[in-house]
Amino acid sequence: MQDWEREIDDLIEIELKPSGITDDAVLAAMRRVKRHKFIPETLRDRAYGNYPLPIGESQTISQPYIVGLMTQALEIRKTDRVLEIGTGSGYQAAILAELSEIVYSIERLDTLSSRARTNLYSQGYDNIYLIVGDGTLGLPEYAPFDKIIVTAASPKATDILLSQLKQGGKMVVPVGNRSIQDLKLIEKALNGRIYRKSLGGCRFVPLIGKEGWRD
Ligand code: SAH
Repeated sequence: MQDWEREIDDLIEIELKPSGITDDAVLAAMRRVKRHKFIPETLRDRAYGNYPLPIGESQTISQPYIVGLMTQALEIRKTDRVLEIGTGSGYQAAILAELSEIVYSIERLDTLSSRARTNLYSQGYDNIYLIVGDGTLGLPEYAPFDKIIVTAASPKATDILLSQLKQGGKMVVPVGNRSIQDLKLIEKALNGRIYRKSLGGCRFVPLIGKEGWRD
């Protein structure tokens, strides 16, 4: 039997904190949400390594450092309504749900969304709303959102998603080509002005959809 608690602590102390993930609330959420519960059985012994892992359907659960970096950059508050594009395993959604009021998460692959739904439900999450569809179009019927997180590589930060962000809101999105991207933090000020900042290089699986790439 593995000592998951120790493995999480090691991941946090040895990998995350030294690379700048220091927000107490984010680290507490990463301690509470057990990454091994979102990973296929056969790979569980590697659940607390600081790297992405396959979750089926050629998709991956993100590297813990990237999950920490994106979550920290969003500065999530308890009252926030958050939109995630790319549910995947549901791990990032669970972290967001620990910190916010409600999370809407869109996934294009029904198999992954269904698996995430069963898993999150059995873990007791009741503030995550999973939708199957093309996330590049956002979720206009529930907009605007306080925070938006895109967890797949995007050819651009689309105006569609930006238009669904509240004034005073923040969005993180990996922008680049299909193999390498730059993680962007985009802030919409209260006066509507847009500010962009780079958080560094990253590698995500591609966003497939109307405003993304073709299958
Ligand atoms: N956040 C996930 C990891 C995401 S991997 C986690 O915590 O596990 C990226 C996911 O985005 C994949 O599951 C992929 O199927 C999905 N995806 C790709 N294009 C999409 C689109 N247009 N809309 C919604 N989901 C998309």
